[in-house]
Amino acid sequence: MKILVINAGSSSLKYQLINMETEEVIAKGGCERIGIEGGKLTHKAHGETYVVERDLPTHTDAISLVLEKLVDKEAGVISSMDEIDAVGHRVVASGEAFTETTLVDERAMELMDEIKDLAPLHNPAAILGVNACRAVMPGKKMALVFDTSFHQTMPDYAKLYAIDYDDYLKYKVRRYGAHGTSHKYVAGEAAKYLGRDLSELKIVTCHLGNGSSISAVKGGVCIDTSMGFTPLAGVPMGTRSGDIDVAAIDYLCEKKGMTMEQGLAYLNKKCGVLGVSGVSSDFRDLVAAKDAGNDRARLALDMFSYSCKKYLGAYMAALGGLDAIVFTAGIGENTSVVRRDILAGLEAFGIALDEEKNAAKNDGSIHDISAKHSRVKILVIPTNEELVIARETAALL
Ligand code: AMP
Repeated sequence: MKILVINAGSSSLKYQLINMETEEVIAKGGCERIGIEGGKLTHKAHGETYVVERDLPTHTDAISLVLEKLVDKEAGVISSMDEIDAVGHRVVASGEAFTETTLVDERAMELMDEIKDLAPLHNPAAILGVNACRAVMPGKKMALVFDTSFHQTMPDYAKLYAIDYDDYLKYKVRRYGAHGTSHKYVAGEAAKYLGRDLSELKIVTCHLGNGSSISAVKGGVCIDTSMGFTPLAGVPMGTRSGDIDVAAIDYLCEKKGMTMEQGLAYLNKKCGVLGVSGVSSDFRDLVAAKDAGNDRARLALDMFSYSCKKYLGAYMAALGGLDAIVFTAGIGENTSVVRRDILAGLEAFGIALDEEKNAAKNDGSIHDISAKHSRVKILVIPTNEELVIARETAALL
C-alpha cells in the first residue's frame, strides 16, 4: 500500500509518498511560493534532488506538479496515480468537530469549513490542499489527520479553562494542544527503544522547534499538554509569547494603540525568543549570540529553558512519577545546550544527563543521553509526523 501525505500551508505544500509495507519514504518534496510569483518544486527521489521552477497560482497547480513528478519518467517513482492507495492530509486544529482521523467526504468538508477560524493560518490551507487533491485525483480515498487528536484523551480538569462552563459548552473554548502526531510518534518510539510496553510508561515528550509543546503521556495516552486553545500558549517560542496574563494583552493593546487583532499578531509574530533577544527566532543564532556575550540572547534562552523545566516538573507531578523524557524537533534534536539547561538541577528527581552523550552531534538516530545512574531515561528521538499521518490513513482504510 502506498500513501501520499500532504501538509499544506497557505503558500507552501510538503509531501511524502510512503510505502506502508516497509514504511519507507519513496519520494518527498515541497512546493514553495504558491499563489506568489516564482513558484518552485523540490522533489527528492532515487537519492537525487529535482527542482522545477514554475509559477503555481493555486494549490491545485501545485498538486498537479507533484503528481507530474511522481509519475515522471526520470524523477518518478510510480507508473500512474492509481498506485497511490490514499492521501493523508495534515490538519492543525480540529476543535470538537473531529476527535479522530476522518475520511474526507462532503460532511467532513462542511465541518472543516466551520472550524477554519480555530487555526486561521493553517486550517484554510488544509482545505485548499484537500480540494486540490480532489480536483486532481477525483474519487481517491483521503483522510484528515489532526494534530489535536492525540490530546483528545486529556481529562476535563486538564483540558478546560476556568471560564463559565456554559460558555465552554457553547463556544468550545478549551485546551486542544498541538503537535499531537509528533508526541504520539516519539512516545511510541521511546517504548520500543526501551523495550517496554507503552501502556506501563510515564513519559514527558518535549517537541521543541520553532513552535514548541510539551506533553504528559501516561500509558500511551496524553493527559496534559502545554499548548492551549491555539498554539500561542505554553512555553515561549521562536516568535510566540507562550503563556501570558491576558490582562497584560489588554494593557499592551491600549498602550501601543493596537486592536485585539493586532495584539494577537504581535504575540504570535513579534514575541517569544525573537522579541526578548532582539536577535533572532532561530536557536542556532541565539546560541551563537549568547556565546558572543549577548545578554538578551542569554536571557531569551534562559527563559525558554526555565519554562520547559517548569512544565516538566508540573507533568512529573501530574503523571505521579516519570520513566522517560523525550526530546524531539529542531531544538529538541539538535540544541544540546538547551537540553542541558532544561535538565540542570533535577538530579534529586532521578534525572541525570550524560554531558558527553548529550553534546554528541545529532545523526538522525535515537540517542539515550541519560547518565548511567539516571533513574529516568532521557532520549533524543527524531520525530516523524508524516509517518504517523500515513499510518493513521492506512489504518482508517
Ligand atoms: P523546527 O520547527 O522543528 O524545524 O525547529 C526549528 C528550530 O530548531 C530553530 O530554532 C533552529 O534554530 C533549531 N535548530 C537547532 N539546530 C538545528 C539543526 N541542526 N537543524 C535544524 N534546526 C535546528
